[in-house]
Amino acid sequence: MSNTGRNETRSAATHISRPEHSISRVNISPNALKVLYRLKDAGYQAHLVGGGVRDLLLGREPKDFDVATDAHPEDVRKLFRNCRLIGRRFRLAHVVFGREIIEVATFRALQHGGNEDGDQHIDDEGRIVRDNVFGDIEGDAFRRDFSVNALYYNIADFSIIDYTGGMADIERGVLRLIGDPDTRFREDPVRMLRAVRFATKLGFRMDPLTEQPIKNLAPLLGDIPPARLFDEMLKLFLGGAALANFEMLRHYNLFGQLFPLTEQSLTHEENNFPLTLISRGMANTDTRIEQGKPVTPAFLFAVLLWQPVRERAAKLEAEGQHPVLALQHASSQIIAEQAVVMATPRRFSLPMREIWMLQLRLESKGGRRSVRLLGHPRFRAAYDFLLLRAEAGEVPEELADWWTEFQETGPEQHEKQATGKRPRKRRRNRPRRSPGGQTE
Ligand code: ATP
Ligand code: MG
Repeated sequence: MSNTGRNETRSAATHISRPEHSISRVNISPNALKVLYRLKDAGYQAHLVGGGVRDLLLGREPKDFDVATDAHPEDVRKLFRNCRLIGRRFRLAHVVFGREIIEVATFRALQHGGNEDGDQHIDDEGRIVRDNVFGDIEGDAFRRDFSVNALYYNIADFSIIDYTGGMADIERGVLRLIGDPDTRFREDPVRMLRAVRFATKLGFRMDPLTEQPIKNLAPLLGDIPPARLFDEMLKLFLGGAALANFEMLRHYNLFGQLFPLTEQSLTHEENNFPLTLISRGMANTDTRIEQGKPVTPAFLFAVLLWQPVRERAAKLEAEGQHPVLALQHASSQIIAEQAVVMATPRRFSLPMREIWMLQLRLESKGGRRSVRLLGHPRFRAAYDFLLLRAEAGEVPEELADWWTEFQETGPEQHEKQATGKRPRKRRRNRPRRSPGGQTE
């Protein structure tokens, strides 16, 4: 059991037989087992691979189960009625069981070089553009990202097959990119973001050779399509480890690639303000996820881009714009500039803008307008945002407290004074003690 599979030298696999490892079928989703068995019974190789195997070995609950096979996507489709083929860059079969999808991927050949049959392609910068050359299990193992993601659980004999030293890395708690890190990060720069995400999620340390090129290669993320970056960003910040990821991304110069405007604000920050706001926003998001409460990217985005928006609004105000217009224009500009890097669907950018605009209205408290504000569909998120700003020292605590109090008693008191009658019974918004602001 001493194969460390360094670099691209192919070497014999290590087979870990059933009694020697901890993966038991009881912990595998019945649907994944169904897919594995049906492939096997039809004469194909069938393995569980990727995060499912990794997480089971670590005693964690896998997010999903991926299957690797020598059956081609069309063959897979013939075996399952509930199957659809997806993807261009990677063609995959999805076998659908209600809400659970088992992803079935055909073994892919290791790339590095040629594009002989026109279906694998690496561009001038060394990036993989298409990856549809089918191969064998060994090639498939070496083209995966990290050794701990390249372990195969073979349904034929319940053994684990390890080509890349993944078992040893699992035991040591090390995240190691397979092959030459510089080459592999250039092939697909998103692997740098994945490295951070897995390191924090698993509590693994990065292998020194894996870690070494990241700071230099970080700018390659500039070439990744904005939609793919948005997806990765959601995984980084809505997966329960937002704060840890934020800190590690900054450490490796990666954060500035995702949020250049925010990074700029952070580098010239005063009184720690944006850093405190962001850190607390992230910590609150993590807490909410842990408690099973809903979270929305709109709130997180609002937190991340708030300082750039404030700075831009201040500049526009200094040029003579009315504060409301200045904030409106600043919001539009910052949203547009961020969109060049990362595609943000309008269903997130619209509420984000509302959260920002409502801050102005929250800053002038009292009167009928405050009562009306309570009924605004985005009031709760905007109020939570205000709490966060108060915690971070941007606005006085008293302002946040006033709104907390006002939700409890204010509206009725106010109506009484205004009409001289007993207030109508109304449903009260219960005040919240900690900001999280992610109720949509
Ligand atoms: P999780 O689903 O828990 O986030 P995962 O390891 O399953 O983690 P996925 O994104 O679901 O990650 O990918 C499944 C597997 O596909 C990975 O484990 C890895 O082997 C391979 N893979 C995914 N993305 C890449 C990539 N960019 N480069 C190389 N291999 C990849
Ligand atoms: Mg997965």
